[in-house]
Amino acid sequence: ERERLTRLRHTPAMTIDGQKVELLANIEMPEDAAGAVKAGAVGVGLFRSEFLFMGRQERQLPDEEEQYQAYRRAVEGMQGLPVTIRTVDVGADKPLDRSAKEDAHLNPALGLRAIRWSLADPAMFLTQLRAILRAAVHGPVGLLIPMLAHGSEIRQTLSLLDFARAELDNRGVAHGPVKLGAMIEIPAAALTVKFFLRHFDFLSIGTNDLIQYTLAIDRADESVAHLYDPLHPAVLRLVADTIAECVAQGKGVSVCGEMAGDVSLTRLLLGLGLRSFSMHPTQILAVKQEVLRADAGRLAPWAQRVLMADEPALAMAEPVPPAPALP
Ligand code: PEP
Ligand code: MG
Repeated sequence: ERERLTRLRHTPAMTIDGQKVELLANIEMPEDAAGAVKAGAVGVGLFRSEFLFMGRQERQLPDEEEQYQAYRRAVEGMQGLPVTIRTVDVGADKPLDRSAKEDAHLNPALGLRAIRWSLADPAMFLTQLRAILRAAVHGPVGLLIPMLAHGSEIRQTLSLLDFARAELDNRGVAHGPVKLGAMIEIPAAALTVKFFLRHFDFLSIGTNDLIQYTLAIDRADESVAHLYDPLHPAVLRLVADTIAECVAQGKGVSVCGEMAGDVSLTRLLLGLGLRSFSMHPTQILAVKQEVLRADAGRLAPWAQRVLMADEPALAMAEPVPPAPALP
């Protein structure tokens, strides 16, 4: 089976009815880029930059040069394929440092994490933005912002990005263009996708957090893991509407949470119109196999029925109706 999958590495991901699908890798370190290319990824859809920040003392965050070199290694490692770098998402299940004081927050998942943490320390955030803009000289780069929910956060982020560019210009340091993306991982964001699309080139749906926040289930709490359900109709509705709005506006949209790498969900996501999936590199060939077997045209009406069901998991067990016989 594994050998058979390996042969798919260079096969373009396309459905039976000719829909092109982009299969991207999630990485945590620049060195993971090589493995992503090897696994057949056509780019990095999510570089979780917080792994450069974790396990250090709070006063020793990576400086601009260290970050630039790391992002540059990832970009060069992808050999011209696009790399989407997410700004730091520390806090909650990703504490910067076990002894750091954010651990003391009452509910870290609802506290100062991700973009909230970045905006609370603009100098630190600017350092990261400059490093990413500089890395964009070496290949196509997307800049992805985690955990946005508020218009004011979008405004502050965009203005800091302008400021970072101006700082580099003043220093005479080269920087490149970036595609700007927002993660949709808070229900409030999923319900206001139209506003996000006024400011961003693409969206990336972080289903791990979107499920957690929609269902009020701590993603790290074993005692409620049985209720952590990607197929809850509310989760599917938020995912489906986000995809549909992006498709209607011609904007890029991808899923970068665990749902993207779950082969039992590939057909459903294709049926909802998704054409870009970002996942752990080990999942890419298995998902590609699902894509190659799928008929997106037939999956679309079936996916709409799943979306209307009160228990979508049961509705998904019903077969996709066969294509009508040719006259
Ligand atoms: C997500 O929330 O789905 C996601 C991709 O981000 P992370 O898992 O790093 O929070
Ligand atoms: Mg997340």
